[in-house]
Amino acid sequence: MPLKLLFTLFSLVLFLQNLSAKDYKWNAKMTFLTFLENHNIPLKTYYNMDREDKELIQEIRAGQTYSINKKNGEIVNITIPISDELMLELKNAKKGYTAKYVPIPYAIVEKTISIQIKNSFEKDLKKATKTSYYTKELKEVYSKSIPFKKMKKGDRIIIFYTQKYRNGKVFSSPVIQACLIEINKKPFYGFLLDDDKYYDSLGKKYERTYHSTFIRPLRKFKRISSYFTYKRFHPILKRYRAHLGIDYAARPGRAIVASSSGTISFKGWKGGYGRAIKIKHSNGIETLYAHMRAWAKGMRKGRKVKQGQTIGYVGTSGRSTGPHLHFGLYKNGKAVNPGRYIRKKTATVVKLKGKKYQKLRKLVKKYRPQFKESKSKTILKEKSEECLNCLKK
Ligand SMILES: [Zn+2]
Repeated sequence: MPLKLLFTLFSLVLFLQNLSAKDYKWNAKMTFLTFLENHNIPLKTYYNMDREDKELIQEIRAGQTYSINKKNGEIVNITIPISDELMLELKNAKKGYTAKYVPIPYAIVEKTISIQIKNSFEKDLKKATKTSYYTKELKEVYSKSIPFKKMKKGDRIIIFYTQKYRNGKVFSSPVIQACLIEINKKPFYGFLLDDDKYYDSLGKKYERTYHSTFIRPLRKFKRISSYFTYKRFHPILKRYRAHLGIDYAARPGRAIVASSSGTISFKGWKGGYGRAIKIKHSNGIETLYAHMRAWAKGMRKGRKVKQGQTIGYVGTSGRSTGPHLHFGLYKNGKAVNPGRYIRKKTATVVKLKGKKYQKLRKLVKKYRPQFKESKSKTILKEKSEECLNCLKK
């Protein structure tokens, strides 16, 4: 309800100032330059952008919704989301257009799912939420280390997740923040930390029986020169940046290998990413390998490749400062941290210590009463909403 009210107020403000906001879909055939041309925006708006900003433009997805805001029929600005956190804003200023990445304003709502098992884990959770999203996500949280199949009548599933809203509409996928699976009175808790990984309440990482399905795309490299980040503020440039992949600095010519088996879905020049290859894997995952010096022999769209197979060679093509591999991983079209998927095959159990452990314990404390409260009732998706970043009344 408060969300709807906010949106209504927002529309009213627009109306009073003779402003109009309209949403469009990004056409798969459209390049950024043709897009500028279509709206009579000078091409130098793109050429004046710096290297990293240009590279990020490649992250605009086909089908992406973007908005054009007008005042008295003239474009005020155009906003195009490039990730869940940032959007490119083209602003029509007196001196001409400027291009800048700015945070996407959104509301985060915390929601709860709490159900008791009647038949089985998968059946009941799918039925209650009307989607298979949560069963898939939970399997990832626990990395196959708990026996979902053993769940019986009376066992419980509790999920606390956050959902983003933009202009009153659902935006991006829900994120499980904390969860509990109870099997025969034995609780298995999962808590999300800011490294994108899930831990139990004592700080043990869930990956004991995980089969590594993605490997590092380089056998040898010098160092990671840039990590994954959805949004970071550059204190000197005073602007926002994002890096939707991992950069591995490596000697030019080093073999780049397929991180997992799949089918090549793109091979070609990809703007700021230069010579690139994209591979489609199972479960809606796609990987990107960019800035290549050359492709390996026989690479073409539609060809199947095996994990570990050489697909190209490290270079510096596109908008790149030095020889490195930009490695991106997308889940259902959304960029996610590849570090979350590349796991080492190891039997040692990772356990949190120090500051990270303190952070986890804070989360455990925060959710403990909520778990208790949710245990005694059935709560389905649409109910129980609390806006975490909305203005307080
Ligand atoms: Zn990169």
